[in-house]
Amino acid sequence: MARYTGPSCKLCRREGEKLYLKGERCYTSKCAIERRAYPPGQHGQRRTKVSDYALQLREKQKLRRIYGVLERQFRIYCERASRKRGLTGELLLQFLERRLDNIVFRAGFSPSRSSARQMVRHGHFLVNGRKVNVPSCLVSTGDVVEAREKESTKKWIQQWSEIRTRRPVPEWLALNGDVFKVTVLRLPKREEIAVTVDESAVIELYSK
Ligand code: SF4
Repeated sequence: MARYTGPSCKLCRREGEKLYLKGERCYTSKCAIERRAYPPGQHGQRRTKVSDYALQLREKQKLRRIYGVLERQFRIYCERASRKRGLTGELLLQFLERRLDNIVFRAGFSPSRSSARQMVRHGHFLVNGRKVNVPSCLVSTGDVVEAREKESTKKWIQQWSEIRTRRPVPEWLALNGDVFKVTVLRLPKREEIAVTVDESAVIELYSK
């Protein structure tokens, strides 16, 4: 289960916008985009001509980086989305949104997807009552994701309770009474997925 372990802020600077990969720090003046809003590296500030291919590639990289998915897994999502009926771009986003680490993040249980991923890997969450430690596990409509009855897990989640004022839980998820359990009511529509990516450019890139 490989993952990117390099500097996160470099990824945002490369894409030229905030990808919110570091949780709370992203909302402060310490954010690297606020201080150096140009691509990293020696030639970062050079102006270059951007081809159609480069634009599509950047959209793909941005989407991959937002969800913390490596190329191989991302390609699998694209292939699965293209085999299903409907808008391929929207289906691709739905696959990414259905990942367990994303659900933990969207429910406000963690400040970032990378910390959600770590919590899942360490077995802090149950899906329909069973322990699942695979961040890429895809949830479906009706599934219930909940924190384990461990004091440390609940303490950890509680410290992020303020997150929900800044980042409300989307309507396709429902917090069940207490704040440690979330139910997937339905799959999200495109307008409910808060990512600024042109998914059609990503699909075009893979269809070549
Ligand atoms: Fe991106 Fe967050 Fe780093 Fe800012 S602080 S550059 S939003 S990861």
